[in-house]
Amino acid sequence: MAKTYEEMLKRAYDKMPAIVFEQKRFEVPKAKVTVEGKKSIWANAQEIAGYISRDLHSISKTISKDLGASFKVEGTRVVFVGKFSQSLVQTKLDDYIKAYVICPVCGKPDSRLEKTDRVQVLRCLACGASSAVK
Ligand SMILES: [Zn+2]
Repeated sequence: MAKTYEEMLKRAYDKMPAIVFEQKRFEVPKAKVTVEGKKSIWANAQEIAGYISRDLHSISKTISKDLGASFKVEGTRVVFVGKFSQSLVQTKLDDYIKAYVICPVCGKPDSRLEKTDRVQVLRCLACGASSAVK
């Protein structure tokens, strides 16, 4: 009995080592935020900054601007002045990743931010594309 195309495709996938798929997983840890009095503490800020290879200070600056709050980096955590829920900070973090980490051409997160004279450029290490960012 002749094999269908789907069966042959499945066989081909089965033969691929699992690692091929695992390397493509990009799951940024979720932001852990607690409100203490009139401040919001983003506890795992440094962990996330390391994961997405971005400077914690510039991430915090962008997010705090979005929140309309001032901030302070304290060691591995960030303190925002004001009460902000975990889900709100998460939304801002997702926006940041979408704008400054993910390549708009190929969708991969392996990128670097470069500053030229006037604009910031997101250079993709996966496909080589350069895209201007705000
Ligand atoms: Zn790319």
